[in-house]
Amino acid sequence: MTGQRRTALVTGGGSGIGRAIALRLAEDGFATAVLDLDTEAAERVAAEARQKGHASLAVGGVDVSDRARVDEAVRQVRDALGPVLVLVNNAGVSATEGFLRITDTSWNRIMAVNLNGPFYFCQAVVPGMKKAGWGRIVNISSSSAQSGQPYMTHYVASKAGLIGLTKSLALELGPAGITVNTIPPGFVDTPMLRASEERGFLGGSVDHHAELTPVRRAGRPEDIAAACAFLVSEEAGYVTGQVIGVNGGRNT
Ligand code: NAP
Repeated sequence: MTGQRRTALVTGGGSGIGRAIALRLAEDGFATAVLDLDTEAAERVAAEARQKGHASLAVGGVDVSDRARVDEAVRQVRDALGPVLVLVNNAGVSATEGFLRITDTSWNRIMAVNLNGPFYFCQAVVPGMKKAGWGRIVNISSSSAQSGQPYMTHYVASKAGLIGLTKSLALELGPAGITVNTIPPGFVDTPMLRASEERGFLGGSVDHHAELTPVRRAGRPEDIAAACAFLVSEEAGYVTGQVIGVNGGRNT
């Protein structure tokens, strides 16, 4: 399929890391589907890509934890832009709660969005990738799943699950020409990080933590997008089942 335009779907593409990934993949020549719970945010990012002359479709109001909506969204993207051959499972939610305070509702919501969502999307797009004999899946996990993080047991467990999903799926799909990798970001300046800072969950300001980071700055969404752009490229075909940390040296 070299030379032909492929379609990439980015979940949580309306904000932060997902936005940067969607815009970068558009620049790299992919037709992009910007999927988000927040319809206006998805529209804004897709419009930004289209203004630069790229094919981009907003798919708003989709909760990744709703399998029926996921299947419908993937069909909608396929009809408008062609089969999804690149999937970036980026949408995620976090929470900071002491372990004994975590309710079933909170635990289940985090798992539903961070782990069930990628499961549903992978099942929805893999048949099309198999048919094409080519596919790229990138799961955005978290450096906290490498190190552990107090007061975030549910979040960390969901992201560790996503790393496990990545490794197993990579082995199963390798023969079909599909690679599956995960990027666990660490400390990236996005609305999610700023919300944690505002609520006092970071144990210090973003600036303070940037000083403690080996490269002496917070991550930018574009840092994650650059790694993702490589992983979905043609030349990354021998890279699969990998955990590619992008964290300024905070986790090694
Ligand atoms: P963000 O700015 O909050 O963006 C997340 C996007 O996902 C938002 O647009 C959000 O929409 C959307 N979303 C949330 N729940 C959704 C759902 N159920 N269905 C569809 N879309 C949903 O966060 P971010 O910092 O860019 O994070 C992106 C990913 O990186 C997440 O998986 C996060 O866990 C991971 N990560 C981030 C960091 C970091 O330092 N920032 C570190 C480690 C891992 P709404 O705004 O409507 O909720």
